[in-house]
Amino acid sequence: MTTLISSSSSSFILQPLKPSKPSILSNSDFLTLTIMSTSQPKRPTKNAQKPTSSSRKRSSYGTSRRSILKKTFSQEQVTFSAPVSGDPHVGIIGGGMAGLACALSLDQKGVKSTVFDTGIHGLGGRMGTRIIDPQPLIFDHAAQFFTVSDSRFGQLVDGWLERGLVRRWEGMIGELEVGGRFVPFPSSPPRYVGINGMRPLADSLLTQTSLVNVVRPCWISKLEPFNGMWHLSENGKPRGQFDIIIIAHNGKCANRLLGSSGLPLIARQMKRLELSSIWALLAAFEDPLPIGGEFTFEGAFVKGVDSLSWMANNSMKLLGSQSNGPQCWTFFSTAAYGKQNKVPQENIPTATAEKVKTGMLHGVETAVGLPKSSLQKPLYTRVQLWGAALPTNTPSIPCIFDPHGRAGICGDWLLGSSLECAALSGMALANHMVDYLQSGGVCPEEFAVGLHNEFRPLEGHDIGQFPGLESTEKEEFQSYQLTP
Ligand SMILES: Cc1cc2nc3c(=O)[nH]c(=O)nc-3n(C[C@H](O)[C@H](O)[C@H](O)COP(=O)(O)OP(=O)(O)OC[C@H]3O[C@@H](n4cnc5c(N)ncnc54)[C@H](O)[C@@H]3O)c2cc1C
Repeated sequence: MTTLISSSSSSFILQPLKPSKPSILSNSDFLTLTIMSTSQPKRPTKNAQKPTSSSRKRSSYGTSRRSILKKTFSQEQVTFSAPVSGDPHVGIIGGGMAGLACALSLDQKGVKSTVFDTGIHGLGGRMGTRIIDPQPLIFDHAAQFFTVSDSRFGQLVDGWLERGLVRRWEGMIGELEVGGRFVPFPSSPPRYVGINGMRPLADSLLTQTSLVNVVRPCWISKLEPFNGMWHLSENGKPRGQFDIIIIAHNGKCANRLLGSSGLPLIARQMKRLELSSIWALLAAFEDPLPIGGEFTFEGAFVKGVDSLSWMANNSMKLLGSQSNGPQCWTFFSTAAYGKQNKVPQENIPTATAEKVKTGMLHGVETAVGLPKSSLQKPLYTRVQLWGAALPTNTPSIPCIFDPHGRAGICGDWLLGSSLECAALSGMALANHMVDYLQSGGVCPEEFAVGLHNEFRPLEGHDIGQFPGLESTEKEEFQSYQLTP
């Protein structure tokens, strides 16, 4: 069934509209979000609308230890019922596109947040860019480019264009079949890349905010509810307390963090997520690869080669005509190859790395139509396993929010597998939370979202979805609509 979500105060709000408490949060544009949902929106109970004295007694999790913990699934549900602070502070765990877009939207609505991210070299998560001096060699080693299909993401991207953070990638891209047959894609829809790579884009996204604090590198290892707040820590070191927390990452790390957090519904949804594994091979070649022919492409989705699903000339993509040094190529395996050759990503055995490198370079020869072992030896290589690369199923809901536990989830997987999906999810969660905050948290039931949605398989390329470049992706994006 369809759950209509519309807003008077922000982009996304659960219907029916509720009177807003005057607050620091500003009103903005009116937008409607239609979400395919399998769960019925819960009606507020009388008690939820008007807290009774008994519900007040159980409020304020941890205060005088009068808290309520309900046995649900394998762990107990945390219920915060003290009034939400008038000056709330949100803790966002994960500084990829979703977490950053969420922080950005919260900032625009006057809500302060702190973003925690593990990144040693910078923010961005799967928006990684590797630069190797002194040449320099440059590679985007996960997200390669993005397209825009949604007007809200389009607005964000227009702002990035104005600030000089992204530009259009005019290089030719298309499909490459075994033996070197290349079919170019039309130049529309436009493709975008970060200036100097995706990581610099991620690192610049929050530079104009005033209410966002970034803590990096930091690996949040524990969430604990106490005294009406979420207490975050990193291996025993306190990292602050927050009125609301947002999990903006996924995979094993998130499952571990949520395992004993007191958020069983959120933990269960996260556990349903399935992720592919993808090998990345970064390789620099002294001479241009022999891909001339009719088309000198800069990026190609490879068809029919087990060890290769994507190849892109990253020095041409990022440096253009200024790239007169070695050619830096990023190659990605298929998800099937990733699965066949899966090892712990933090500890890749040398033999596996060697085998994968050889297998992928052989895949390049097969794809471009070169005789076996005739490809020039790269002057630099590095293999990396993205063990939790891309979602293969999705609940098709922009965000998940547990109002009792005052916790939300955003991430690409909630809508699909792309930077656009990640950004839309982050924005949706921020807007939904702002509406929750404006309500004062009096009728939490009304703000529960995505806690019971079923998952369905996700289609698209092995490295994600690029709306407009493939018909199947259109169907994914039809599952929700954002209309002004
Ligand atoms: C190989 C590959 C190629 C891709 N190519 C494209 C492409 O060309 N175009 C496209 O649009 N998309 C592409 N994608 C998908 C795209 O990168 C993702 O959809 C998007 O970056 C996801 O953003 P996110 O914020 O949801 O998650 P992430 O980017 O994964 O961000 C999560 C962040 O949380 C951090 N984190 C995790 N646990 C903790 C913790 N406990 N404490 C603190 N921080 C934590 C992580 O380190 C990470 O920085 C690709 C992905 C891969 C793997």
